[in-house]
Amino acid sequence: MPLRIVISDCLLGAACRYDGGSKPHLGCLRLARRLRAQGGEQAVAPICPEMLGGLPCPRTPAEVRGDRVVRSDGVDVTRAYTDGAARSVDIAKASGARLAILKARSPSCGSGAIYDGTFSGRVVPGDGVAAQMLKREGFTVVDEELVKYCEPSFEHPVAIVLGSGLGAVADRVRAVRRIPYEDIEGFPAEAIPVEEHRFEVLVGTIDGMPVVVYPGRVHLYQGYSALEVTSLIRHAYRLGCRDIILTCASGAVGDIEPGTTGIIRDQLNLTGVNPLASAACVAEAEIEVPFISMAGGYSSYLAEFARAAAQDAGAPLAEGVYAGLLGPTYETAAEVRALGVLGADYVGMSTVCEAIMAHALGMQVLGLTLVTNKAGLASNTHAEVLEEAERGGEVCQKIILGVLRYLGGSHA
Ligand code: SF4
Repeated sequence: MPLRIVISDCLLGAACRYDGGSKPHLGCLRLARRLRAQGGEQAVAPICPEMLGGLPCPRTPAEVRGDRVVRSDGVDVTRAYTDGAARSVDIAKASGARLAILKARSPSCGSGAIYDGTFSGRVVPGDGVAAQMLKREGFTVVDEELVKYCEPSFEHPVAIVLGSGLGAVADRVRAVRRIPYEDIEGFPAEAIPVEEHRFEVLVGTIDGMPVVVYPGRVHLYQGYSALEVTSLIRHAYRLGCRDIILTCASGAVGDIEPGTTGIIRDQLNLTGVNPLASAACVAEAEIEVPFISMAGGYSSYLAEFARAAAQDAGAPLAEGVYAGLLGPTYETAAEVRALGVLGADYVGMSTVCEAIMAHALGMQVLGLTLVTNKAGLASNTHAEVLEEAERGGEVCQKIILGVLRYLGGSHA
């Protein structure tokens, strides 16, 4: 089933706000138009929880105060807000959507930050009543600001770092510019093999979508530092990329079959290093202190696009936690058992430092891993891993292309 979304009706231009107006949002309108073009009218389910709760339009403004919703004149309207949220959840479930794009800061739709209940304009961490209920039901809830932030354009192309087996993605780039890796600040120039022709950044488009593709990377196990292995990420950021797709090969810790593509939902950085343990990286990321939260390190928003793209491609899609190890040896059977206990589903030797760097820079990260083997088997060889990566690469490529298609962009 193509991607379906639930969206706050006021973002689509419906005059349902407390003041009788609307808040049409260009990025949301474009996304809705694109999804409807691909999946029909039912691809987009507009909701206004407050109207669904029976409230009039216009109405007296209200804000969340503790576990209540209170109007500016002091009247408690919790019941109407709760009823509207429950009806919104029913509509969302019936629509088949998993993703809800809701208006920021509203007492119903706000997610992550809402007005604090004093009607002073102060914003505090928290969720509106409908957003809370949708999250409890397992929906991915984001606001319109994220839609705008993630929308690719020529100023903000999508970065794609290609792991083993995905070279064909680079072949699809209509390049307008090629940048040799040796010109990337911080990239170890000596890592470039003389006969290697593909260690160059491809800036251009894939099916009309602005992209910056990195067809290869260096690894910690080659002796490079966390600073060096994340130089591509900082380069992508400097080129304006806000969305980044990190791809890699991995071994299955559990029962995922080789050849399967998996979403990386979270990670275990077991490499023993961290790119932010470097003054240069911290300065580059323009963060005051390196103690950043890794919550949301992998974008749940982009993951929804990947799920839909996999469904479109008729491809099975795994989901799980990626453990990044230093390598270069493959894992022992005991290490694989330990990784299982730690909650890992895949294990590999890349990606985790890149994801930390990208997240610190404020990029939205989609992690895709191509499972090439069962981890811990005596039969694991590099040649077999590469062979399986080549075989499974086609499906992973389809998912990447599907994500790009869904992302659309302001240029489209
Ligand atoms: S309840 Fe949500 S959809 Fe309705 S007006 Fe408020 S923010 Fe918009």
